[in-house]
Amino acid sequence: MGTTQHSTFVCPECTSSFVVDDDKRAALVEHGCVRCGTALTPDAFA
Ligand SMILES: [Zn+2]
Repeated sequence: MGTTQHSTFVCPECTSSFVVDDDKRAALVEHGCVRCGTALTPDAFA
């Protein structure tokens, strides 16, 4: 328990920011920003 990693995602394009877990982060890197569709790199997550 408590092993899920959460990251704060900030889109470099539309500046959307929200908290994501590992699965969501992987999906964002693969598919791009859910809001503007820009391609993302792991640098967008802190
Ligand atoms: Zn975006």
